[in-house]
Amino acid sequence: MSIISDSLKRIKPSPTIAVSQKAKELKAAGKDVIGLGAGEPDFDTPENIKNAAIKAIKGGDTKYTTVDGTNALKEAIVKKFKRENNINYTVDQITVGAGGKHVIYNLMMATLNKGDEVIIPAPYWVSYPDIVLLAGANPVVIECSEEQGFKLSAKDLESKINNNTKWVILNSPSNPTGACYSEQEIKNLSQVLKRNPHVNILSDDIYEHITYDGFKFFTIAQIPEIKNKVVTMNGVSKSYAMTGWRIGYAAGDKEIIKAIAKIQSQSTTNPSSISQAAAVEALNGKQDFISVRAKAFQERRDFVVNSLNAIEGINCIKPNGAFYVFPSCKGLIGKKDKNGKKITSDTDFVESLLENNEVAVVQGSAFGLEGFFRISYATSMDKLQEAMKRIKLFCESLN
Ligand SMILES: *Cc1c(COP(=O)(O)O)cnc(C)c1O
Repeated sequence: MSIISDSLKRIKPSPTIAVSQKAKELKAAGKDVIGLGAGEPDFDTPENIKNAAIKAIKGGDTKYTTVDGTNALKEAIVKKFKRENNINYTVDQITVGAGGKHVIYNLMMATLNKGDEVIIPAPYWVSYPDIVLLAGANPVVIECSEEQGFKLSAKDLESKINNNTKWVILNSPSNPTGACYSEQEIKNLSQVLKRNPHVNILSDDIYEHITYDGFKFFTIAQIPEIKNKVVTMNGVSKSYAMTGWRIGYAAGDKEIIKAIAKIQSQSTTNPSSISQAAAVEALNGKQDFISVRAKAFQERRDFVVNSLNAIEGINCIKPNGAFYVFPSCKGLIGKKDKNGKKITSDTDFVESLLENNEVAVVQGSAFGLEGFFRISYATSMDKLQEAMKRIKLFCESLN
């Protein structure tokens, strides 16, 4: 008998690990690999936020806090929702965890039973289906094509809802595609959800502040008739370049928020007191660097999208947010690389690109949509320029 639990056996190790493992091996062997696989900003945490953490350490802010977040941080989050999204929450509708991923994990553990279904539009963030499986429920994946801009339509959503549907997960701007839902698109989805009041909505807004071309961010909890069915997840990792600090939060129904605190009270207890103090400064402090950084990301996006579309066999739509693009490599499937290896899938494509031209990207099938790959452009322009040259050379070497 295996010592490993049945619930753990339901999930797979992250498929992105194969690529990053390989990239690490090649780097260790002295190869000059460019990694475009990472899902985090290359910018540093702003100085005022670091200083708030130092002050917290020196001031003795080094003890356990309230399990699901200090009052100061919850109040900063309440203010954030009011200021940026015009949504009213009270402090008892807020929970803070060790990263947005932790909050989603807690939420699913707190609410899912065997047989429950969670609708996940694909391409999806790799963790959603596996968290659902770990909680013992069933992910229901809806493929959203390139023609639809990788976005879920109201019609497709409605067709997958049944009595077992407990959650639908929305993520805009999206990881891995960068796709952003307009206010109208979200309102269209909300019409379906209003007709199905047993369905709850998890809105993952982690890339809220990384948008381009004047895109106006809109989140589903802004719709009053549906707000009490929505849990809005956000965090400081992406907006404030604080991935290592591990602070994420969510707002929603009091009963759910309380259930999350119950899980945390018997598992992780509170997130780091020092990181919480830093997050208070992030949310209450100056916000001016956010638009400066978004502008830098936009320049990189433009460069990457233009470079990719200049390559025969690659097609890349220009998304409005996040720091990813999701180009198609379907035009190159069936060709052979210079070692005579046939490219039969996106996985073959990314493996051969890494072996031959030393650029690490992640295959689309890891995100639930075959025939694409994800590039993270959260890296310097110099590296991006070199990477685009190499991808072009690689694609031209296929025949
Ligand atoms: C990065 C990310 C998160 C959460 O990240 P944390 O560092 O755990 O806060 C959540 N959703 C998506 C889509 C992400 O890319």
